[in-house]
Amino acid sequence: MKIYDLLGIGFGPSNIALAISVDELRQRGHQLECFFIEKQTNFAWHRDMLLNDADMQISFLKDLATLRNPRSHFTFTNYLFEKGRLQDFINLKTFFPSRQEFNDYLAWAASHFENDCAYNEEVVEVLPEKKDSDVTLLRVISRDSTGNIRERLTRNLVVSIGGTPKIPVSFLSLENDPRIFHSSQYLSSITKLSHAKRIAIIGAGQSATEIFLDLHGRSSDVEIDLIMRGRAMHPSDDSPSVNEIFNTEFTDYMFSRTPEERTRLLKEFHHTNYAAPDIDQIENIFRILYNQKVTGVQRHTLITNHETREAQASDYGIRLRITDLETNLVQERDYDAVILATGYLRSHHKTILAPLAQYLPNFTVTRHYRLDSTPNFKPAIFVQGASETTHGISDSLLSVTAVRTHEIGEAIISIANIDFENSPKKHITA
Ligand SMILES: Cc1cc2nc3c(=O)[nH]c(=O)nc-3n(C[C@H](O)[C@H](O)[C@H](O)COP(=O)(O)OP(=O)(O)OC[C@H]3O[C@@H](n4cnc5c(N)ncnc54)[C@H](O)[C@@H]3O)c2cc1C
Repeated sequence: MKIYDLLGIGFGPSNIALAISVDELRQRGHQLECFFIEKQTNFAWHRDMLLNDADMQISFLKDLATLRNPRSHFTFTNYLFEKGRLQDFINLKTFFPSRQEFNDYLAWAASHFENDCAYNEEVVEVLPEKKDSDVTLLRVISRDSTGNIRERLTRNLVVSIGGTPKIPVSFLSLENDPRIFHSSQYLSSITKLSHAKRIAIIGAGQSATEIFLDLHGRSSDVEIDLIMRGRAMHPSDDSPSVNEIFNTEFTDYMFSRTPEERTRLLKEFHHTNYAAPDIDQIENIFRILYNQKVTGVQRHTLITNHETREAQASDYGIRLRITDLETNLVQERDYDAVILATGYLRSHHKTILAPLAQYLPNFTVTRHYRLDSTPNFKPAIFVQGASETTHGISDSLLSVTAVRTHEIGEAIISIANIDFENSPKKHITA
């Protein structure tokens, strides 16, 4: 069986950026055998949240390459140039393209690596390949949509699988009910629920507000309750001073702090990314709520300071018991559908890597995103997007992607265990 120098799990922005970094390394003479495995049937960036009016929450200059190499073929600017839209985009005078356009940019970048990626395969586990007491290689097991299993061997691995839906405890037993779904399934789920008139959205972040506005525009019959624990909606703070925490140097600062200091920093800057929609989203929602007062027709309700502690499903609908966090008073409300805009967990890599757990103490991550391992474990495993607690809030965003993938690429070529003797390209420095 072929042995890769590097396998990547997932082909979202993080691993596309890595493919670009590896491409640059190849141009410098480092010929790495590199391949990616992606569970979607084709590239799509948060497919079910590609809403018509949704814009990027980050400057287009934080694309897959610019911060590392502004001269790269893969910059957003070059994408615009190749598509014949550079001047038109300039005339928009914005740093924030639509998510549809950024998705098209990412798909364009991904299309350069069609031969380096297997789509429609989900990696289910990674097993150790041993020689005596040493683990020398990794066996990556994937399954396609028809259930076929595929195995590949690699010397090194990069896990960049994004987040998995965070489902509140009160909804866990109802996860298979098609009337209750996470924001990550929004578009494909809502189109199957055309009869749903009374809809609850749980959450107070960008996804919750985007879905509110999308639902409002879909049909004049829909009545929405936007239910959140907070007393008010806080806008995302992306002012220049605060935005410095997304600069690449901040990763060094964050990583060099004590665990207590890191926790304090994450808390201090929580509202740059969590439960923090763009200000224009909040303004648009309040304009709609105000118009209801003008017309006297109330369709939507903002329910702040409440938590959903119980949910029951019946043939008639979903009944939520929501508790006022100040008075503890409980009210019951009935819905045709409930949308959980409740965020993401970033620990699924531990499930995929569970067969290797004995070699990866506590899954701790080094500054350059490599998982610490025991001395008898020779492969290097890197993770992207799962190190917020040690590397900062930028870790799950696009902010540091172009630089992080360069750091990982450099780390891989400096790893001595790449078997250059068996490689036809011996000029690589180990
Ligand atoms: C709706 C939405 C909007 C966002 N907007 C912004 C923004 O404007 N700016 C910003 O900086 N960040 C934004 N983010 C944050 C987002 O995490 C990053 O933009 C970016 O998607 C991170 O890229 P990634 O490759 O690490 O993860 P993802 O984009 O999540 O990609 C991971 C890929 O891995 C695949 N995968 C997962 N598990 C497996 C498996 N077991 N086997 C094979 N493949 C697998 C997935 O299908 C996916 O394609 C947004 C997030 C969401 C949900």
